[in-house]
Amino acid sequence: MNRLLVVSFGPVSPDLLDAIADPVWRSYDLEVHRRAERPIPADAWDAKRQQHGSEVLLRTLLVGARDPGDRLLGVTAVDLCIPMLSFVFGQAQLKGAAAVVSTARLDPSFYGLSSRPDLVRRRFIAEVIHEVGHTVGLVHCAERSCPMSLATAVEAIDQKGEELCDGCTALVHDFKAAGSLTAETLRRSSRSQ
Ligand SMILES: [Zn+2]
Ligand SMILES: [Zn+2]
Repeated sequence: MNRLLVVSFGPVSPDLLDAIADPVWRSYDLEVHRRAERPIPADAWDAKRQQHGSEVLLRTLLVGARDPGDRLLGVTAVDLCIPMLSFVFGQAQLKGAAAVVSTARLDPSFYGLSSRPDLVRRRFIAEVIHEVGHTVGLVHCAERSCPMSLATAVEAIDQKGEELCDGCTALVHDFKAAGSLTAETLRRSSRSQ
């Protein structure tokens, strides 16, 4: 049984962490296991940008024992960025082991609006399905309602459901049946927002 090992970097609402188990199982047949919370790595802090670098979190996740086939999901409440982008909702290794998702920009309170836990939960599930999808081998999808579509703003996340579209679902089945990705898919992106 392949597993998704979930590590929170700093405190994250247990309700959010609980919410992803069923959707992740339905989409990818991955059994979600919670791991102990870890501190946010000190070297992830970028003082100039006043944000945390998501690549340090990805690297930190990859250190430590795991079984072949296990995937790792880091979740954090701090705001994440990568050198090329002013922020990311998450980041993943394409057909790799690790993904991270930040809840920071999923809450309307980030934009000066009233907090909406129900909305944060929906957005979080969509983004987890998105980033875990990259580790499985999925690339961005043109279908706006599919979690694998690219979202650069929360308004785009709100158009997503939590279920993969038929095309992406078929790809997941193909990847599983083949046990590997095509070279073409691997060339298209080594890293994705
Ligand atoms: Zn899709
Ligand atoms: Zn993406």
